[in-house]
Amino acid sequence: MVVAIDRYVDGGWLMKPLVESALAMLRQAKQKHGDKIVYACSMGLQGMVLIDLIAKHELGIRVVTLDTGRLPQQTYDLIDVIRKRYHIELDVRFPDAEEVQDMVRERGVNLFLESVENRKLCCAIRKIHPLDKALDGMEAWITGRRRDESVNRESMQAIEVDPVYGRIKYNPMANWSAHDVWKYIREHDLPYNSLYNAHYASIGCACCTRAITVGEDPRAGRWWWENEETLAECGLHVSSIIRSQVEGELGEGI
Ligand code: SF4
Repeated sequence: MVVAIDRYVDGGWLMKPLVESALAMLRQAKQKHGDKIVYACSMGLQGMVLIDLIAKHELGIRVVTLDTGRLPQQTYDLIDVIRKRYHIELDVRFPDAEEVQDMVRERGVNLFLESVENRKLCCAIRKIHPLDKALDGMEAWITGRRRDESVNRESMQAIEVDPVYGRIKYNPMANWSAHDVWKYIREHDLPYNSLYNAHYASIGCACCTRAITVGEDPRAGRWWWENEETLAECGLHVSSIIRSQVEGELGEGI
């Protein structure tokens, strides 16, 4: 786990450089890619900061979010609040209805509880495929990931290149700590998912997300019934090579 950099200097948190650097990356990305860049927002805490920056500074970056069909009501409420508060284009994407129907007919509505393979299939159909469609034709996309979120993300670069499609991934929040994010949210009175007030640390689909207890890894609230090796990521941010391998393997059953 990355230890958060102590930014407490001279009696104040050094938020300004963090915000300026995130903003500079967003501006540069927009300048470079124009309409061929999109922010894929998971409606998590970093998402609130990025939406605020994009809207306040009128960066003109389109925001896409995924409605898997299994989100908690609190996330839907938040999407509504965002729509009303900000004048940005919030593009909500859905899974392909036939893919979902076929999957549920063959493997059941709670298939993800039965095997890792089923869980990955469900994530592929409800998340990866709609994300792929949203990214189709894009040169670049923006994420809200932070390095200190999990062991898997410790070595994440602020700017990455997709090895298959050559698409650039910008991670303007890579250097932020959880404390930084909360500080920005509080200082700017931003909306956020109310489940964070109930000890949720990472929020996805309602059926695959739970609150965590003191000392637990923030991502322990996701797919907690699986063993540790398979816990860490939903698949949205693994490389396209791995994604295509996973989907290739899983595609046989569809
Ligand atoms: S998080 Fe759970 S319900 Fe949501 S897509 Fe993945 S397996 Fe399916």
